[in-house]
Amino acid sequence: RFACLPTPATLDGFDYDAAPGVDRALIRELGTCAYLESSTNVLLIGPPGTGKTHLAVGLANAAVHAGYRTYVTTAADLAARCHKAAIEGRWATCMRFFAGPTLLVIGELGYLPLPAEAASALFQVVAQRYLKTSIVITTNRSVAEWGEVLGDTTVAAAMLDRLLHRSVVLKLDGDSYRLRDHHARTHSQ
Ligand code: ADP
Ligand code: MG
Repeated sequence: RFACLPTPATLDGFDYDAAPGVDRALIRELGTCAYLESSTNVLLIGPPGTGKTHLAVGLANAAVHAGYRTYVTTAADLAARCHKAAIEGRWATCMRFFAGPTLLVIGELGYLPLPAEAASALFQVVAQRYLKTSIVITTNRSVAEWGEVLGDTTVAAAMLDRLLHRSVVLKLDGDSYRLRDHHARTHSQ
């Protein structure tokens, strides 16, 4: 069981009043980790600052506390690790690494354009985990735009097919939580 948690965000610390449209009962259900037993994936989709990473890390924390092997990464970091592994002749080891955890959180898909090789690595990670283990993905791009994100509509379709087959899709919306303080300050002046 291992995890590298980027922030201490927890599901309990999530402010539902600031996140209109987020189903509290659904998050509570996900917090029980039952979805991990059915290898269900979770897609968190929405614009920046709407709490996607907070919820993803909250799910990772819940999984770690429940004793599930968990690993948190970003799409860019996963791609970089796979690239390095390919160069160094460690591809199979790298794939085994990403197949291992019961929960793999892949953050920030869509912020950086992925080269074809990265899209292929991501697809292979998704494919080998399919129906065996869960993935939580955060992205600022709707699934309709994944062809563009991955630079290949066929790879995107094949990846989404597997990801969505058993999945919970959460759409987040509203104003950026990061800009709340900023707005509060400017409005009080
Ligand atoms: P995103 O990944 O959607 O860009 P984050 O989850 O990183 O956004 O949120 C940005 C910051 O705002 C983080 O510090 C996060 O903890 C906080 N935050 C966002 N939404 C909420 C919320 N509904 N309740 C509490 N904190 C939130
Ligand atoms: Mg994020």
